[in-house]
Amino acid sequence: MENRNCKVCQKEYKPYFKEQQTCGRACANAAISSAKRSPPRACKGCGTEFQPKKTKSAYCSHDCYAKRHGTVTKTCETCAKGFTVAYRFRAQKTCGTECAKAAIAKTLTTAESRARATAFRQFPDRVT
Ligand SMILES: [Zn+2]
Ligand SMILES: [Zn+2]
Ligand SMILES: [Zn+2]
Repeated sequence: MENRNCKVCQKEYKPYFKEQQTCGRACANAAISSAKRSPPRACKGCGTEFQPKKTKSAYCSHDCYAKRHGTVTKTCETCAKGFTVAYRFRAQKTCGTECAKAAIAKTLTTAESRARATAFRQFPDRVT
C-alpha cells in the first residue's frame, strides 16, 4: 500500500489497512475526540457563534439564557450576592439552599418562618 499523510499530524505513514486515516493510535484517538466535539453554533439569545461545552447548550452564556427565558436577577437576603431565578420563582429571597436555611434559622420562632420552613421543602433548584 502506498504511503499517505496522517489526517491529524500530516506526517507521511505507511497504512496497514485500506481505511486507515491516521499514522497511529494516538492520532486515531485525536481524530475521534475532535469528531465528537460539537461544532460551533449560533447562540439562541444573542446570535453570536460559540463553541458549546455541552451538546445541548443553546446559549453562549448564562446571561443569554436568562434573558431568553425571562428570568429575574435578585439579591440574596442572606449573603447579598446576586442570583438568577426563573420568573415563576421571583418571590425567592435567597440564592440557594444554604442561604435559605440560614434565613429560616434567623426567624424560626415566628409562625411565618414555620410556614417558610414548610415552603423550603419545595425550594426550587437554581437556574443553571
Ligand atoms: Zn499522525
Ligand atoms: Zn449569547
Ligand atoms: Zn446567598
